[in-house]
Amino acid sequence: MPELPEVETVVRELRAHGLVGRTVAGVGVAWPRVLVGDTPGAFTRKLRGRRIEVVGRRAKYILLKFSGGMSLAIHLRMTGQLHFAARAAPRDVHETIWLVFEDGEELRFHDTRKFGVWKAAASLDALLPELGPEPFDPAFTVKVFRERLSGQRRAIKTLLLDQAFLAGVGNIYADEALWDAKLHPQRRADGLTRAQAAALYAAVRRVLTAGIANNGTSLGDGATNFARLEGRRGGNASTLKVFRRDGQPCPRCGVELRRIVVGQRGTHFCPRCQRSKTP
Ligand SMILES: [Zn+2]
Repeated sequence: MPELPEVETVVRELRAHGLVGRTVAGVGVAWPRVLVGDTPGAFTRKLRGRRIEVVGRRAKYILLKFSGGMSLAIHLRMTGQLHFAARAAPRDVHETIWLVFEDGEELRFHDTRKFGVWKAAASLDALLPELGPEPFDPAFTVKVFRERLSGQRRAIKTLLLDQAFLAGVGNIYADEALWDAKLHPQRRADGLTRAQAAALYAAVRRVLTAGIANNGTSLGDGATNFARLEGRRGGNASTLKVFRRDGQPCPRCGVELRRIVVGQRGTHFCPRCQRSKTP
């Protein structure tokens, strides 16, 4: 599932394609369940005639802000992919919803598993669930991170995946950050030392930065894989140190990497570098 770097990649590509400034002439809906809380007619009335003013991201959501104070949140979930097409271009059976612009181009949502979500509302509070800080927000300092860890008894891996604790981190980047910071995924979150919390804070930002710089992580060739705009692959997979590399040697110490389950999620780590107790 796309995480912060993958969604940020799509957002930047949408901007580069010139999505800002387009005006919605209509909406096509082939799969009404992509819409949360709206009929296709109600959803179309919310957006028709409005101009896209901002293309941004919050956590793992693509956020389009329209003239007149309307916003649209898109969550790609498992298989959602966006692409532009001329209005006359043939429609794929997996295209569940599309925006039609006044200039004749369409922004189409291709979603083979159909878990993706589009939701429009006038206020962001009505649009988004409770979300923790953005990892790159200047207000999210290492001190804030430490304060948020205190009193958290859950395993650190589980906590990193909680979007209400920290926005944007998912399974890939949580495993990579914990390896980078040399922390066992099952360490209790409130048991980290000051130095360990600081190392993890830096590691989270480092692995996310690399993910963005490499246009996201595309794994394997399956349909559930992340794809950039127009179906292109992200280039970050070759930089991963532990994620889905169980059985291979740790790039730091050479010991065989292992896979365990933490909070029902497959978790990859080095049993030597990432000790379960404070050294
Ligand atoms: Zn190691």
